[in-house]
Amino acid sequence: MEKPRVLIAGSGLAAYFAWRQLGEKAIVVSGSLTNNSLISGHCFCTKSPNSQTLENAIIGTGRNLSDRNLVKFFCSKAKGIEKLPEFSKKTEWSLGFKSPLDFLERFQQKALNARIVELNVLENRLDSVTIQHENGQKQVIECNAIVLCTGGYSHYFTPADSMNYSSPTGLEVAFNAGAMVSGLEFNMFHPFGLGGKCLPTEALSKCNVLSKSNGAEWLKKSILQKSLHDRLSKACLAISHEKGGKLKVEMNNKTFNLTPISHYSNGGLVVDCDSKTSIQGVFAAGEIAFGIQGAERIGGTALTEAVVFGSNAGKKAAIHCDDASPCRISFGKAFFEKSKKRIIDCKKIISGNFGTLNSREKLLEGLEKSSEKDCFFLQALFKAGLARKESRGCFNRIDFPKERKKFEKNFLFKLEKGKVKQAFTE
Ligand SMILES: Cc1cc2nc3c(=O)[nH]c(=O)nc-3n(C[C@H](O)[C@H](O)[C@H](O)COP(=O)(O)OP(=O)(O)OC[C@H]3O[C@@H](n4cnc5c(N)ncnc54)[C@H](O)[C@@H]3O)c2cc1C
Repeated sequence: MEKPRVLIAGSGLAAYFAWRQLGEKAIVVSGSLTNNSLISGHCFCTKSPNSQTLENAIIGTGRNLSDRNLVKFFCSKAKGIEKLPEFSKKTEWSLGFKSPLDFLERFQQKALNARIVELNVLENRLDSVTIQHENGQKQVIECNAIVLCTGGYSHYFTPADSMNYSSPTGLEVAFNAGAMVSGLEFNMFHPFGLGGKCLPTEALSKCNVLSKSNGAEWLKKSILQKSLHDRLSKACLAISHEKGGKLKVEMNNKTFNLTPISHYSNGGLVVDCDSKTSIQGVFAAGEIAFGIQGAERIGGTALTEAVVFGSNAGKKAAIHCDDASPCRISFGKAFFEKSKKRIIDCKKIISGNFGTLNSREKLLEGLEKSSEKDCFFLQALFKAGLARKESRGCFNRIDFPKERKKFEKNFLFKLEKGKVKQAFTE
């Protein structure tokens, strides 16, 4: 059998579609086998009567900070999505796999339960990838390409609705290896977080999905998801406003606080229409990439983005590797690291310093804390917030409450010789 040549990092929707293109050429490495698309039982995908309407809507919503070439590419492909077998209208589940279990099983057979912790880059070309297994053991994989599908960084904020606790994220790993990032300041907060844990729409499915491994159960939950809209409309009627400005919602005879919740990260790796990042051999797709959404996101586009660009990245990585030699794998010495502790540290730095409303003072404090901890990715995040002296899309500054024409541009960040360097697009 031909040995794999490409690594796919992640086991969400983008990774799945990349894997469909690469098949046996790829090894899948995933921080955890759970992922946003399964946990939350998503329901909304992009649908548009024509690509021009969609294109205008995305660019308008992104306050002119979306990459027009990427949006054009996305819209031209998005309209064909319903033709993909996974999106067959006959299936019960909204994303169209035979069942969520079917999706997961196909992936579980393929994925190594490990996370990527380092991209080893020589002369701006990927040389190998260091992964870490659950038992802490590190392993170096020499490969020709990696497709990063490791999702966003919104779970670094508190509270967050995403259950992905892998740390470092693939985005951070790529940034540390010298890849260019942009749009980091645009982290979306959903206004209606239920009890600081999840969205009302996801509440029902989320509680149960993780604890069940039986296919029939999963399917029932997804059917339940459909009827949730009825329940939700009743629940919404029970929203009340308490003294002190707190919003409450009553659902299934329980009362929850409603608070903004970190939901989606618009920022990420800078990619082109071939899903290439600024490092040769490193491809990226899904929420990890920046470009489509700009300063704000239209609901429903994220899943479509993962499908369109996941497939695209898989195809392009396959072409990149066609003449290349196979992967070589070697084991390093045992090494233990507490990834949960690391994410808690990151959350502590962000908490209170970067959120729904931001100020220069707090952003500077966050920058200082992230510098003390040598956390380059968080330094870039705070620098992005400081550089954007305006409020635009999902980013708000109390000291600069209005959108400003001169900031109709993106800030780019790159790590060079241990320093976070900043530039911007015209
Ligand atoms: C609650 C909720 C509801 C949403 N609802 C919608 C909706 O209705 N419509 C819509 O369009 N979008 C929605 N979104 C957004 C959408 O779900 C995500 O943008 C999309 O699922 C991202 O897919 P992805 O494949 O890029 O990443 P993910 O699905 O986040 O997968 C990332 C994968 O990478 C793995 N990983 C992370 N770090 C590492 C590492 N270092 N090494 C290896 N693996 C790693 C994770 O374990 C995971 O498997 C929602 C998001 C949430 C959280």
